[in-house]
Amino acid sequence: MKAVRVHEFGDADTMRYEDVAEPTAGPGQIVIKVEAIGVNPVDTYIRAGVHLIRPELPFTPGSDAAGVVLAVGNGVSSFKAGDRVYAAGSLGDAWGDCYAEQLVRRAEQFRLLPDNVSFAQGAALGIPYGTAYRALIQRGAAKAGETLLVHGASGAVGTAALQIAAGNGIAAIGTAGSERGLALIREHGAAHVLDHTKAGYLDTVAALTGGKGPDIILEMLANVNLARDMEIAAKYGRIVVIGNRGPVEINPREAMMKDLDIIGIALPNTPPDDMATIHAALGKGLANGSLKPVIGKELPLAEAIESHHAVMRPGAYGKIVLIP
Ligand code: NAP
Repeated sequence: MKAVRVHEFGDADTMRYEDVAEPTAGPGQIVIKVEAIGVNPVDTYIRAGVHLIRPELPFTPGSDAAGVVLAVGNGVSSFKAGDRVYAAGSLGDAWGDCYAEQLVRRAEQFRLLPDNVSFAQGAALGIPYGTAYRALIQRGAAKAGETLLVHGASGAVGTAALQIAAGNGIAAIGTAGSERGLALIREHGAAHVLDHTKAGYLDTVAALTGGKGPDIILEMLANVNLARDMEIAAKYGRIVVIGNRGPVEINPREAMMKDLDIIGIALPNTPPDDMATIHAALGKGLANGSLKPVIGKELPLAEAIESHHAVMRPGAYGKIVLIP
């Protein structure tokens, strides 16, 4: 079968599209025919060799995929050949191997994909929706009636967060850096939208939240925004750091004066029970239509190199997926 392989850490063009052996299902495992693969920013950090996860070379990247069960190993009763599934393990205990025509993992690292959800949408669930739910509901403890700022709402995690917020009665402000990104986030639940490329774009946040500031901020680029987030957050507010690409200088006094919580999250740290709760909630949201992953771009698997450039470019629009 065809797979994308990284033979040395480095730029996107270190990835090769090549022939590898088909996987087989060992005890407790299933093999799926991959129909769509989610491209996440973390795939690029791991490929470049700048992430804590440094796999042995050569390796096949990718954490998120959806497809159809081809074979089940001994002891698997939860799935049968032909089931539509998505990978829901995500990094901690199930990293890699998704940029390929077939994928083998332990059965409990997959979930059934409802019939009303496409394979491309299924490939957008594991990391983006898992992270958004973990950040907003579990770590951020957001409640109905609170106000939320999704700082970086136009990408895969941001659009997921807006939809989860809307489904839980949480009013959201979203930011994006392009016209189509702003239109997208309005469509997916942001009551107010702000352009994070414009000077002074956060000046209206106080007025938009009744003078109080957002109760919760989900932050996609903390090294740029954390200091300002602390200034605009509500008293007793929570800032959940999801994305960060470097150091930042802050004034801890802002946290002290407002009893702010600054919360970090890394999806792989999610305990198994919490992960099960996340995917049960996502399953309900997919079934009732409140969660609808946005697929902004589909590329053939052979164009994985371009997908890594695209996921790091400004102008995010939902999810980028690869199709084998
Ligand atoms: P993505 O689809 O590429 O989206 C990136 C988002 O960041 C876009 O909405 C983009 O907006 C926005 N952004 C760009 N400049 C910004 C700025 N100055 N201020 C605020 N937002 C800005 O990526 P993703 O999959 O949603 O992931 C988002 C971030 O979270 C990435 O850094 C990723 O590595 C991280 N992440 C962390 C975890 C975890 O476990 N902690 C899990 C998943 C993802 P425009 O393009 O419209 O400008």
